[in-house]
Amino acid sequence: MNVVQVSAEIAPWSKTGGLGDVCGALPAALVGRGHRVVTVSPRYKAYDGAWDTTVRARIHLFGHTHEVGYYHLNRDGVDHLFVDHPSYRRPGIYGDDSGTYGDNLFRFALLSRAALEVPLRVPLGGEVVGEEVLFHCNDWHTALLPVFLEGIYRSAGRFPRSPAVLAIHNAGHHGTFEAHEFAGLDVSTRWWPACDMSGRLNCLKAGVALAAKLVTVSPTYARQLCIDHSHGLEGLFSHRARDLWGILNGIGEEWNPATDKHLEANFSADDLTGKVASKAALQRELGLPVRPEVPMFGVVARLDHQKGIELLMGAAPWLLRQDVQLVILGSGGAAYEDFVRRLAREAPQRARGIVGFSEPLAHRIEAGVDVFLMPSRFEPCGLNQMYSMRYGTVPIVHATGGLADTVQTWEPASGAGTGWAFREFSTDALMQAIGFALRTWWDHPDAWRKLQQNGMRRDFGWDRAAQLYEALYLAAYGR
Ligand code: ADP
Repeated sequence: MNVVQVSAEIAPWSKTGGLGDVCGALPAALVGRGHRVVTVSPRYKAYDGAWDTTVRARIHLFGHTHEVGYYHLNRDGVDHLFVDHPSYRRPGIYGDDSGTYGDNLFRFALLSRAALEVPLRVPLGGEVVGEEVLFHCNDWHTALLPVFLEGIYRSAGRFPRSPAVLAIHNAGHHGTFEAHEFAGLDVSTRWWPACDMSGRLNCLKAGVALAAKLVTVSPTYARQLCIDHSHGLEGLFSHRARDLWGILNGIGEEWNPATDKHLEANFSADDLTGKVASKAALQRELGLPVRPEVPMFGVVARLDHQKGIELLMGAAPWLLRQDVQLVILGSGGAAYEDFVRRLAREAPQRARGIVGFSEPLAHRIEAGVDVFLMPSRFEPCGLNQMYSMRYGTVPIVHATGGLADTVQTWEPASGAGTGWAFREFSTDALMQAIGFALRTWWDHPDAWRKLQQNGMRRDFGWDRAAQLYEALYLAAYGR
């Protein structure tokens, strides 16, 4: 199959969260299964090794014609295209210190339109991909692609058999705009009902209504979208439930403790001595007492309402009265950032908070800590709990979405389980789960070792997910 994957983020070139990770990893896994995959994302800045194809497309949007260019690089058999336009070359992906960019509808509509031109006009390996192609869109930013596919291309006889699939990584963001903005999209008003939600232009809704198939990143979140987690789109998701798949994300090879370049020492399930060294190195790096015996807790997250930071704020005073260490890395909401900044002041021997975004430090935290906390209010899939399990770090999570699908609560009697998943979204429930973990750490070191190894032996590779995406694409063609 020929697949064009379109996204606002693609790791390692652009990333604010899991969307970037997934869009960076899935294409190579699909290529591994014999498919041809082209990714299309914005050229936010110059990327090493990406060359100007010299192809230009002229796209009419919001009353003007805009010229875009395409930069190309091939990695692991995947053709990566970066769309060049002045509106992408800014400090942030979606916004900066002054807030969200006011022209995001234009920027991402342009991306979808530019992606639709790729199979028609960008030669890759000597020839264009052609019209037999499946478009894989991601989140609201590219959810208008099915509108353009139907309203501009198919109505002109182009892409007669090409389906669009929409992947929902987070239904918390719909991409809503004033209704009058619809006129700028340059499609017939026939498509307004698909885009309209309560009198506003809703990009995610348009994609959910029009894509041939829908997929989200865990089976539990797929069910939750139909019931209570899609912010007003529950009815539409229920209506499309037969077309809605839930496929758990995999995690990439850059998150492998045996080869991770960011670590002081590498390790694996068979030999955890490198984990002990990584913990000591992390304690030194953070200026905390180097104590192997003390349980160390970690958090790496966008500091957002979604991530349940309130529960951490509620549990922190109690947790930091215990003989533990805690490190939090994250950036986001001002009140959450204040909490993170205050940690070291309030518990200088026990806690550190780092406000910022650091990929290397995120790796060193996953490797160095013993317990990873992820009390998300909702979590479509979640990657950090899977990274944790791979790194012998025991996750404590709120049992929602992909967290419920990936973390099994420890059962001492059978020796099964990989962490603790608490059901009620409350500080008490989080503290109770931490209490179980502390007791297991102090009193049952053998059980702790088993917990670590259960997690490390789980298969979180992309192959399984890629196989399911392939089945999804075939189903989309069958429609
Ligand atoms: P989400 O996509 O909602 O942010 P995920 O758990 O799916 O949540 O993915 C988060 C990804 O972003 C992980 O790779 C995580 O390590 C990374 N990440 C989040 N915040 C930071 C940060 N402050 N520094 C480094 N990496 C971060």
